[in-house]
Amino acid sequence: MDFDRDYTMTIGGQAVSAAEVQAVINPATEEVIAHAPAASRAQLDDAVSAAKAAFPAWSALSFAERQEALRSIGQRLNHFKEDLMRLLTREQGKPRAGAEWELTGAIIWCDEIAKHELPILVAEDSPQRLIETRHIPIGVVGAITPWNYPVLLALWKILPALLAGNTVVVKPSPYTPLTTLKIGEMLRDVLPAGVLNIVSGGNDLGKWITQHPDIGKISFTGSTETGRRIMESASNGLKRITLELGGNDAAIVLPDVDPKKVAKELFWAAFQNSAQLCVAAKRLFIHADVYDDVAAELVEFAKTVKMGDGAQQGIDLGPIQNRMQFEKVKDLLEDSRQSGHNFLLGGDIPEGKGYFVPVTIVDNPPENSRVVAEEAFGPVLPLLKFDDVDEVVARANDTIYGLGGSVWSSDITTARKIAERLECGTVWINEIHAFSPHATFAGFKQSGIGVENATQGLLEFTNAQTIVTKRLLP
Ligand code: NAD
Repeated sequence: MDFDRDYTMTIGGQAVSAAEVQAVINPATEEVIAHAPAASRAQLDDAVSAAKAAFPAWSALSFAERQEALRSIGQRLNHFKEDLMRLLTREQGKPRAGAEWELTGAIIWCDEIAKHELPILVAEDSPQRLIETRHIPIGVVGAITPWNYPVLLALWKILPALLAGNTVVVKPSPYTPLTTLKIGEMLRDVLPAGVLNIVSGGNDLGKWITQHPDIGKISFTGSTETGRRIMESASNGLKRITLELGGNDAAIVLPDVDPKKVAKELFWAAFQNSAQLCVAAKRLFIHADVYDDVAAELVEFAKTVKMGDGAQQGIDLGPIQNRMQFEKVKDLLEDSRQSGHNFLLGGDIPEGKGYFVPVTIVDNPPENSRVVAEEAFGPVLPLLKFDDVDEVVARANDTIYGLGGSVWSSDITTARKIAERLECGTVWINEIHAFSPHATFAGFKQSGIGVENATQGLLEFTNAQTIVTKRLLP
């Protein structure tokens, strides 16, 4: 397999190119690194037809056979791990350590999701009657993914969808389609034709997927704005939907922390993947007693971190992934500057190639400023001072989002009490971004609908069917 060229879609097990193509740009250099096919509507129809045709045989396999298929996917990813990592850095911008984290996670997910089973729930088992609920696959699933973690987030959808017995059509982001296209290619001889189809293209292609009458479920990760559009469009055929959307996560730092120790953890909580992470700490609430010390340590640590082209040695943080997002983050920075906020670090966009925004730390801006209220999705972090727990919980929850959050304290009992009061799908205590294939991942409020991972995530790719059997003949 050549990871530098020949990017084709996978439709019905075949390599397919398209009449139109889209340029894919390396965000660190702004060079065009490849052209990806832009699927036509007819090609999407072909992919859905192939998935529909493959569904009866795939869903008829035993559960154990499909579990084995997931493990084979993991083995194939592992075989090409190094190539995928290099390609991921080139198309996404993340440095090697980030690419390795993502690929390692994706491979672990294959084995671990394969351990889940679809439960049969027995509501009544009496001499008169047996009432059982089983979970059966929906049919063809459409999976639509974003550009920040293109490999891992595609696998979060593909694996449970296939395990439950569905067939899948995946559409990666037009900014990062290459790794997903290569995964389609490397799995052509692992899965039966039509079981996994990969189509690439722009937002229109996403819309066609959500409108397609033969797709029964949409699993989407991306922005809240697009999530709303998907919900609207999927309502036509009453498609099932899982939406994993944006966040504006609070990290709450209590006065009993050691500022030096916690600073490094907080830095990565906020700036991992250049802050292009749905559950990055995006509002850092620090107790007034330790605010100055934590802020100073954070700035000191941030100065040791190197930003640059992720393909080069010794780089910790890469660029913003695409120009559209780069312009958004720049605009947010400019707004913060014009509002007279104090920058403890950063704030100036360097000249030159690449979509680089330096690590920027904003000193206690007002709560209603854009830099606090909006999801930056870039390395611009507001530090916010608080005095008491009730106040900080209210402020943390005062957002339309509810994805993640974290609490930092040497008193776990107190931290736990605060965690329980946060209105979000995941709360970490004294660490962050420890994900598990066996723990649900979900958003409250406008951060999403439904759940990914764990058995609950698997159940989202099924319909529940209750069978009631009367045991006594009339
Ligand atoms: P996006 O919503 O712009 O795009 C995501 C995908 O949707 C892309 O493949 C895009 O082509 C497609 N799309 C766009 N318009 C569409 C439409 N009308 N119908 C169907 N598909 C359409 O998001 P993005 O900019 O790629 O990603 C960044 C956002 O994703 C951030 O808000 C971030 O917080 C969120 N995100 C959430 C999670 C999570 O699990 N909750 C994870 C990662 C990213």
